[in-house]
Amino acid sequence: MSPRPDPPEVDRIAAGKAAVAARQARAAVKNAIATRSRTALDAAQAGWTDASSAEAGMRVRELLTSIPGLGPTRVAKTLADLEISDKKRVGGLGNRQRVKLHDYLQQREGDAPAHLVVLAGPTAVGKGTVSSYIRDNYPDVHISVSATTRAPRPGEIDGVHYFFVDDAEFDRKIAAGELLEWAVVHNSYRYGTPRPPIDVALEEGRSVLLEIDLQGARLVRAAMPEARLVFLLPPTWEELVRRLIGRGTESPAEQQRRLETARVELAAQDEFDFKVVNHDVSQAAQEVVDLMAVSSPYTR
Ligand code: 5GP
Repeated sequence: MSPRPDPPEVDRIAAGKAAVAARQARAAVKNAIATRSRTALDAAQAGWTDASSAEAGMRVRELLTSIPGLGPTRVAKTLADLEISDKKRVGGLGNRQRVKLHDYLQQREGDAPAHLVVLAGPTAVGKGTVSSYIRDNYPDVHISVSATTRAPRPGEIDGVHYFFVDDAEFDRKIAAGELLEWAVVHNSYRYGTPRPPIDVALEEGRSVLLEIDLQGARLVRAAMPEARLVFLLPPTWEELVRRLIGRGTESPAEQQRRLETARVELAAQDEFDFKVVNHDVSQAAQEVVDLMAVSSPYTR
């Protein structure tokens, strides 16, 4: 008589298959949210309607992490704000928590259209580092690539860091109305923001980040009043001084000139809708990305 398989063994295999299928179903939900073919609110509501659904089986943390532009630090903070534990599944939330999560998602998704965010601030505050961090870590954000008449520095790639053009091409862009704004920066070269890629990105629902100088920020404000202007601040004046003259390679007169410029630049901060302090690059980047999803400017 051939031995019959142990029933518990059969159960284990069946349970294993069911677990794989459930994981795949949850992955499909996460993917739909990440690619914006479905909202997180819709997924949460499906989980509350059907307790045996893939949505109900998802952890709230997984649901939130799938939302474009929401990084792990922000998710952890949101869970704490909503008083939902890290392990909690969507279907396991109590009524109070469901209401809180519902309101949070509705506020985020319901009236959070894509935004144009302008990042400006004094020289040497770290604007470039923060925007590179966003480019590398938040692929959903469209980072505008400016046109400039200056020559590429070693390692800079045409079309990635800038579109390097000559004066005649820059003139043509201005005449054709292709630039949202342009300015002569540091009394030398011209820099401008190409408009068509911004319109395309916003139409696709992607938020756009411009990292430009103060004159450019003011011009964007005039051309697109709905843009959000973010001013990046150094942790302290002393820290900015350290970053500006830290290398000590400039003459005392040049150092003095740079400090004077920084003072004038810092004085512009009250023209801005938001201020972000650059204590730490990843933290500052997260704050800038969060501002793209905030439904209404709270410092205006
Ligand atoms: P860099 O030559 O060091 O890359 O940039 C010099 C300055 O030009 C930076 O302050 C940067 O914010 C600014 N800048 C870069 N692109 C643009 C732009 O399209 N428009 C304006 N107005 N300023 C820009």
